[in-house]
Formats: sequence, C-alpha cells, structure tokens
Amino acid sequence: MGLLDIVPAGVITGDNIRKLYQYASQHGFAIPAINCTSSSTINAALEAARDIKSPIIIQFSNGGAAYYAGKGISNKDEKAAILGAVAGAHHVRTVAKSYGIPVVIHSDHCAKKLLPWFDGMLAADEEYFAKFGEPLFSSHMLDLSEDSKEENIEICVHYLERMAKINCHLEMEIGITGGEEDGVDNSEVDNAALYTQPQDILDIYNAFSKITDLFSIAAAFGNVHGVYAPGNVKLHPELLGKHQQYVKEQLKLQSDKPVWFVFHGGSGSTEQDIQTAVNFGVVKMNGYLQGQVGNPDGPTKPNKKFYDPRVWVREAEKTMTARVQQACRDLNNVNVL
Ligand SMILES: [Zn+2]
Repeated sequence: MGLLDIVPAGVITGDNIRKLYQYASQHGFAIPAINCTSSSTINAALEAARDIKSPIIIQFSNGGAAYYAGKGISNKDEKAAILGAVAGAHHVRTVAKSYGIPVVIHSDHCAKKLLPWFDGMLAADEEYFAKFGEPLFSSHMLDLSEDSKEENIEICVHYLERMAKINCHLEMEIGITGGEEDGVDNSEVDNAALYTQPQDILDIYNAFSKITDLFSIAAAFGNVHGVYAPGNVKLHPELLGKHQQYVKEQLKLQSDKPVWFVFHGGSGSTEQDIQTAVNFGVVKMNGYLQGQVGNPDGPTKPNKKFYDPRVWVREAEKTMTARVQQACRDLNNVNVL
C-alpha cells in the first residue's frame, strides 16, 4: 500500500496532513519543503516531486511571499507578503492535482515582528474554510525562538487555538538555529544555545496536545542556516531520539515517535546525519537554498546576493517593465487614467 492509497493527490490539509506525517514517520521518510518565490519555482518543485513519485511541501518565506506579489507593490504592514503568499497558495491549488501527487502548502519562519503577516494569511485561511471547509494553506510556521520559552509557547498556543478550528497545522521552533536566513543573523550565537533540551520538547508537547495533534517542532540540534560543505556543521540528530524517548516515558505513550520534528538549517549535514534525523521522527526538512541555482562559484559558496533567482528574475522584470511602457507610449496610452 502506497501513500496515494491513504491521501489524495492535490493540496492536502487537516486529517490528510495527519495521515501523511504518520505514514512518513512510520515508513522512515521525510518530505522536503521547497521555498518558492514564483510560479516557475513552484512548478519546478512539483515537476521534480512528480517525476520521482513523492509528496512535496511548497513553502513561502516572508521575503519570498513579498517577492511573489511583485517588487512594485509596497510591503507596508506586510501587505505584499500577505498577497504574495495567498497568490502562491492559489497557484498551487490550481495546478497541484494535475501533478498527481499530495502537496502541502506552508508558510516559513514568522518572527514576532512579522505577526501581521501571519494574521493576514490566517484570515485568508478562515475565509477559505468558510467556503470550502478547509484552510487555504495546509500549515504555517511561527518562529518565536528568539523569545523566552514561556512566551514562545504562549503565543503559539494563542494561534494554535484559532488554527485548530480550521484544521490548519502549526510548525514552531525552539532553540536557536545558527547562521543567517531571511535577514535574521544568528552566526554569533553561543554554541550551548544551539541544542534544545528534552524538557522544552515535553513542555511544548503538553501545552499543544491539549488543543490538537496538528503541530510539529523544529528543535535545534546544532543546525545552522545557510550553505556549508557536508561535515562542517556539528549536528547531533541523536538528540531527537532522546526527546522522543523522554516524551514517551513522561507521558506513558505507546508510540516510539510521538513528536513530529522538522529539520531546519540542514544544508551542511552529511547523509548519515539526515538519515539519523529521519529515523528519529523528522517528517519535514527545509530546503530554502536549493532554490538558489546557477552559481558558478559552486554550491558551498552561495553568494546569495547574486545567485538567488529573485535577483536575476527581478532584473528581467525591470527590462520587461521598460518595454511595456514603450509599447504604451507608442500607442499614446499614457496618462489617460
Ligand atoms: Zn528555523
């Protein structure tokens, strides 16, 4: 029996997300989450997954979502980021079924200062739910790992209560992931802070599971955001096994893997580390930097400012904008509004 015997092709939410992650955890695989910034990058991710017969997660970062809406739109009050994420989600919903694979639509890191973005996407979910009985997005991520554990849990619980009503999944982060991503620079953080403790996982599990089981945890086990040659990052994925064991024992649960873990900042990990993490219950792994292609300096020197597709696609957009204006001028179609 394969995955398509238990969940349908197309965008999946709610109970089907539960089935997907349970199936992945039991069968020892995880689903990559690909950060997309345009319809073409979404299509590339869907095509790749279809051709190797895999489910896939399409995710939008705050910056990626604003980019999706168009650089010509102001992002005041997160307006462009909300619009872009919603537009991207609708594109995925329009085409996903044609690829014949289960697809998860997700939004990536949302720190406290970006909560208006989260609120806007959640409002779109609630509106979609009122019409179709499911949220627009399958899941969202809240990243309050820079705040205290208490505050992190409190804000997550506040949102989780709202999300549970529309069967939307929440991913949260605890502990600090090093490196730099989407403008958050943690490259100077003390090493000890890079490892989440078992008690943290238990506290989150206790608080969240009272509301719903539709949540996952991005725990820190030495992860670093960014691109590194394999072996350069000292990961301890075996800690995830300790967390699972601790939650199981403390709560006297049946399952050996009661927690769904998410792997962030894994670009510098060895295949062995990734396998260990998956064996201990990682069901989703982020793959932001795979979308940054065409770098002649090689994959370990990302040079994000140049080789991120957003940079060169934007240059093409500017050229096209100038040409469209020329076409308008040729037709006296100027200042007629
Ligand atoms: Zn993270």
